[in-house]
Amino acid sequence: MKLTLIGTGNVQGCPLYGCECPACQRAREQSKYARTLCSALLEDNGKQWLIDANHPHWDRRFPAGTVAGIFITHYHMDHVQALFNLRWGLGPSIPVYHPDDPKGCDDLFKHPGILDFQPPLKANQALQLARLQVIPLALNHSKPCFGYLFCSPQGRIAYLTDTKGIPDDSWQQLLRQPPKYVVIDCSNPPLAKAKNHNNLSDVLELAHALPDSQWLLTHIGHELDEYLMEHPDCLSPNVSVAHDEQCLSL
Ligand SMILES: [Zn+2]
Ligand SMILES: [Zn+2]
Ligand SMILES: [Zn+2]
Repeated sequence: MKLTLIGTGNVQGCPLYGCECPACQRAREQSKYARTLCSALLEDNGKQWLIDANHPHWDRRFPAGTVAGIFITHYHMDHVQALFNLRWGLGPSIPVYHPDDPKGCDDLFKHPGILDFQPPLKANQALQLARLQVIPLALNHSKPCFGYLFCSPQGRIAYLTDTKGIPDDSWQQLLRQPPKYVVIDCSNPPLAKAKNHNNLSDVLELAHALPDSQWLLTHIGHELDEYLMEHPDCLSPNVSVAHDEQCLSL
């Protein structure tokens, strides 16, 4: 099983248009520090699934017939915007797995095109796709939102964005058998008061409580990147900062 973190930025991305902060300037000068919208690619046993769909060149990167399905975390525009032209494509339909959010985003449900929206998933009820088991985990966000725990014979990876903290039922799933990797929303610097996203203090506390997992920060905002430039030693040994196109393999 392999998870590629296609994008690791929050809704603003880095560099943020018009921003002259050190993190945005660095990202303009060295593309390895740039962050695009947060999404990921899961590969297992010769098949690939997307987690969220926001890549600007989605159609070129994933030609028709190459994607077994899309897992939607939630229907905020920065996570689903590639669906809006993808839906008018030709070729085989693409199963879309998602939380129960009757509103969805704009008119996607009314005009789904080739998107085959599956019955909404339920938290903690596993979906079996060949040998891959996927457990939806409820998260704390302003819209119904799922993280996903991917379980293959080689091990487990949790992908948890967007969220503030982790609800108890979801936390219990992680405790039961700690994943090798936990990829988690960490949008803001420590002590930032955002209701719907973790700050660095939130994540360090969680990572401390699950020390056998390797925690990777994603959905990162430019202010957190600036903080990390100023405080390079602020992370614990089991926490690291993800970058775009980083691969996690089991
Ligand atoms: Zn900036
Ligand atoms: Zn969101
Ligand atoms: Zn988001």
